[in-house]
Parts: sequence; structure tokens; C-alpha cells
Amino acid sequence: MRLRSSGSHRVAVSSLLCAAVMLLTPALIEAERADLNVYLRLKAKLDKIRAIDTHDHLRAFNKIPDRVETPEGRGINLYSIWAHSYLTRTTKITPWPANGQFDTWWKHAQHNFDDARATSFYRYLLPAFRDLYGVDFDAITKHQANDLNRRIFENYKNDRWLIDVIVERANIELMFIDPYWNRLQFARDYKFSVPVLNVTTLLSASHPARTPSRRDSPFVYAERNNMSIDTFDEFLVVIERIFQDALAADAICLKSTQAYLRSLRYVKTPKNVAAATFGRRPEDVSAEEQKQFEDFMFWYICSLSARYQLPFQVHTGDARVQGSSPMLLVNVIEQNPDTKFILFHGGYPWVGETGAIAMKHSNVWIDSCWLPTLSYTMAKRAFQEWLDAVPSDRIMWGADTVDAEGIYGATETTRRCLAEALAEKVERGELSESVANQIGQQILRDNALKLFPRLNRMLWR
Ligand SMILES: [Zn+2]
Repeated sequence: MRLRSSGSHRVAVSSLLCAAVMLLTPALIEAERADLNVYLRLKAKLDKIRAIDTHDHLRAFNKIPDRVETPEGRGINLYSIWAHSYLTRTTKITPWPANGQFDTWWKHAQHNFDDARATSFYRYLLPAFRDLYGVDFDAITKHQANDLNRRIFENYKNDRWLIDVIVERANIELMFIDPYWNRLQFARDYKFSVPVLNVTTLLSASHPARTPSRRDSPFVYAERNNMSIDTFDEFLVVIERIFQDALAADAICLKSTQAYLRSLRYVKTPKNVAAATFGRRPEDVSAEEQKQFEDFMFWYICSLSARYQLPFQVHTGDARVQGSSPMLLVNVIEQNPDTKFILFHGGYPWVGETGAIAMKHSNVWIDSCWLPTLSYTMAKRAFQEWLDAVPSDRIMWGADTVDAEGIYGATETTRRCLAEALAEKVERGELSESVANQIGQQILRDNALKLFPRLNRMLWR
């Protein structure tokens, strides 16, 4: 009897609740949910932060890659977005067909994604399709795909869409641009661009034949500036001149991607050993001699990094994988205390090691750029572990992509990942919500302004 009575009471209360909920508008329900949910509250705050993105590869508008021929003309479309996405690292995207017809491409391309649905390389682009185009790519129909393709093509007829998405939708104020396609120029193609000096080809330039692209060659740079570059000492003067020119053009930091080419173990090498290799043709130089030349140059660049106050972004982790653990850099880090090292990509998959290095060395910062795109799960774990071990002013982020959709997708993925990481810490009682908000503000913006004070005069919003 009592049971039945309490049962009918429960029914009455729940019907009342249902009626009350039915009276709420969707906006009110969302607000109610946000009120109850730490993650949603943190995410809403993170979304409002005008982010400083410390790593991207955005070219001038007319140089954005993977434009294709279509019946409507040459342009960027759905194929282009996937063709220069990170998904191509694990999954083959069907080439654009010779007849230029979307339907021909989609007939095969729609199956490209079948085994990639769970991967972060696929999923980081989904927020762009959902938020910018209202399309759920996981369940996309042939008709929707056609329409999405047409709308992307229209959007790239000029640069307005690109700029609007980056500034208004992704809410980015400044973006560091690593110009690996033209390393020794420091153009600012957009009002949010921050130039970066990519030193990768300088490190290995023991002979002009080592830098096949004239654009990346210190020898061509010397010629253009009427500088002599016959001896090793003259070569080092040219390198220093490149630093001075970069600084004058507002370059904010250095970047090396040698992890794609060789081990990150840089042994301290005497100058005369490097000088003995300089100027010799590659076929006359052993692999060990070239390695010693590069080892010397890496240490030399570290000293210039300190002298010119250009912090050094170093690609660590996933590249060749073998030889790219950030642990290999510890000797260099320890013996160059005045150089500010930024370990890129959180050292994926060595995120714990990266945290330990930053914990032990106050001249090390961690940049999480690319990490949520490599593995969302590891990125979330990494944010939590780093915050356990490292002061919160030493972590940054970057979208690390090449177009509006990629930048929006990677930025939204990062904001979501960071909000989840912080919310879990709040829910476990490891952080107060107000401190979690402050840490979000630090990682997305303030830490970059603190590490690179010259950015303060580039702010424009
Ligand atoms: Zn990159």
C-alpha cells in the first residue's frame, strides 16, 4: 500500500517536471544545462577567449594548395579540404577525377572514410562541417555532399570567408605562420599573421647542394645581399644576418622540423669539425661528418636564439618517430639555459616525458599544437598530466593547419579537449572552477603574450 502510494507520488512529481520542462524554450533548457554542467560552463568561457595560435601553415590566399579544375572553374572544394587534411597521413583520399565532376569523385571518395571514423585525423574536421555548414559528415547523404562541395567552392572565390572563419568563428586574434614553403621570407599576408623564422634548412646547409630550393638557401640569401659566403666564418655571419633581418621584420621565434630528417640527439661539436665539412660536395661528405656539422649548427642556432631573444620551437615526437623523442634534447636544453625551448606537439607520443622535461627545466615550454588532432584522448590526458607537473604559464596551443575549415576544426577540437580536461579536474576536486577558467585563458592566450612580449604590440582587436 505504502509502496503503491509512493509510486503514484513519483509519477505525479515526474509528470509535473515534464510539464515544467515542456514550458521551457530550447534556449532556456540549454542555459539550465550549462548551469548544471561544469564542462559546458568552461567551454562557453573558453569560446570567448580571443586566442593566440602559436603554430599554423596558412599561405597567402591565392597560394592555398589543392585547387582543382571543375566545370565552374578552378577552385577549392570538398576534395581540396580532405586532400590537404591530416587524414591523408593514414588514409588514401581518391584523387580528383580528370572530368572534374564531383559525382565521379564522390562515388569512390565516400568510402575513403569507412575505417577512419574513430580517428582524430578524421574527427578534427567534423566541427567545421557541423558548425560552419550545418552538416553531420558521419551521416552525410549524396545530396548533402554535393551541396557542401558547392558551398565550399563558393566560399573560396575570395578571401573573405577564410578571414571571417579565422577571426570571428575560430576567434583567433594572432596566428604564428611557419612558412615551410618559403622559409627565408617574413611576409605578413594577413592582419593576424605573426612571422616565424624556420631554420630547418640553415641547420644542414654545409654546401649549396644541400638546400635544393633557392628560396630556403642561405647561399642565395648571401648573393642577394651582396655578402661573401666562401668560408665557414662568412657562412656564420650570413646566418646571423638572417636572424637580424627576421627580427627587423617582426619574426617572433625560430622553428625547426629536423625531426622529420634525423635524430634529435645533437652532440656538442667543436667549430673546427663543422668548418672541415663546410663547402664540400654532399657526395664527398660522410653521414657522420654531416651529422656533426648539423650538431654544431643546432648549438650555434641555440646561442643565437638566446642572443636575439627568439624562442626556439622544436618539432618533437611524431615525425619519423625513431629519434624524435624530446628526451634526446635534454642535454642541449640543460647546457643552454638562456635559450627558451618550446617542445612541439607535446612530444607525441612522449607526452609524459615532455611534462617531466618542462618540470625540471624552467627554460622549457610545451606547445600542444597538433596533439588533439593526432589523438584527442592523449591530448586530454596530456593537459591533465602537464597541469599536475608543470606551472600553468608554460603550456600553449596551435591549430597547425592550412585552410579555414582545418583551422576552425582544430581550434574547436582543442577548446573542447581543454574544457573536458579542466572540467574533469574541477569535478574531481583538483581545481576550483575559477582557477580552471584562468588556466584556459593562459593556455589559449596569455602564456603566448608572456613568453613573446613583442606580440603585445601586434594585438589588433
Ligand atoms: Zn606544423
